[in-house]
Amino acid sequence: MSQSIAVVRTVKDLRAEVAKWRQSGDPVALVPTMGALHAGHLSLIAVAKGHAGRVVASIFVNPAQFGPKEDFKRYPRDEAGDIEKFAQAGVDLVFIPGTEEMYPAGFATRVSVPSLTEDLCGAARPNHFEGVATVVTKLLLQCAPDAAVFGEKDYQQLLVIKRLVSDLNILVQIVSGPIVRETDGLALSSRNAYLSPAERKTAPILHQVLSEAAEALANGEGCDAASSAGRFKLEGKGFRVDYVAIRDPETLAPLSGPIRGPARVMGAVHLGSTRLIDNVPTAPKSR
Ligand code: AMP
Repeated sequence: MSQSIAVVRTVKDLRAEVAKWRQSGDPVALVPTMGALHAGHLSLIAVAKGHAGRVVASIFVNPAQFGPKEDFKRYPRDEAGDIEKFAQAGVDLVFIPGTEEMYPAGFATRVSVPSLTEDLCGAARPNHFEGVATVVTKLLLQCAPDAAVFGEKDYQQLLVIKRLVSDLNILVQIVSGPIVRETDGLALSSRNAYLSPAERKTAPILHQVLSEAAEALANGEGCDAASSAGRFKLEGKGFRVDYVAIRDPETLAPLSGPIRGPARVMGAVHLGSTRLIDNVPTAPKSR
């Protein structure tokens, strides 16, 4: 059944709504999205509801984080369906700014976090993280939430956001939500809609291969061997591999040799015209 939910499209209206809750002392959580919602996004709403009495969700397909040859134009959009899903999930307010509202004429500022964005997805997608960091900074300043929730699916992005919030003294708690997967292991993503039926059958192999690498690392295999084996297996299944990398989960520093503590196995691949990313945690098995 259709539920009514407040939708605002300007920063002024967003602030006016949030100010009312502040006056009554209700903590506010923000969940930024690019829409085309799936159960992964909605899981973040549930996390947000656990942190604050009021939840704001935003929908903004941010042109600044897409490269010139990327999928900005064809990125799936379903505003009416998304609003309905947010209403069902118990969101209090949806913020849907237009491009003019976010980037009015004369807009010139960029937020960048070079140390965390030069490799992994940053190597394949120049300016992507600058676009993300800039828009997330704006959303945090526009909404001024007590907490903001981001998925571990975009693990490098999560660390970039934690870093910028700390570096810029933005008064918000960054909360992360675990990756929601299909039953065959494929991480939910709005971009899965691009996959052909044959590609959809192949896609879960990314998670399988990263999980096998995580298991091998837990059993004492070295990082170089685990990442090379992962790359080899993925290439054998027809993926074009951007990277399979074993990283420190806090700093993203490359790890070598057998892991001595928690690590993150991260991968990015192309399957046909679709880019997929995923990651899994691992740690040495205690002996
Ligand atoms: P997006 O709409 O792709 O920008 O994603 C919005 C938020 O949802 C980001 O914080 C993502 O990390 C998160 N997200 C995307 N996919 C998943 C997933 N499968 N599980 C959990 N969170 C996700």
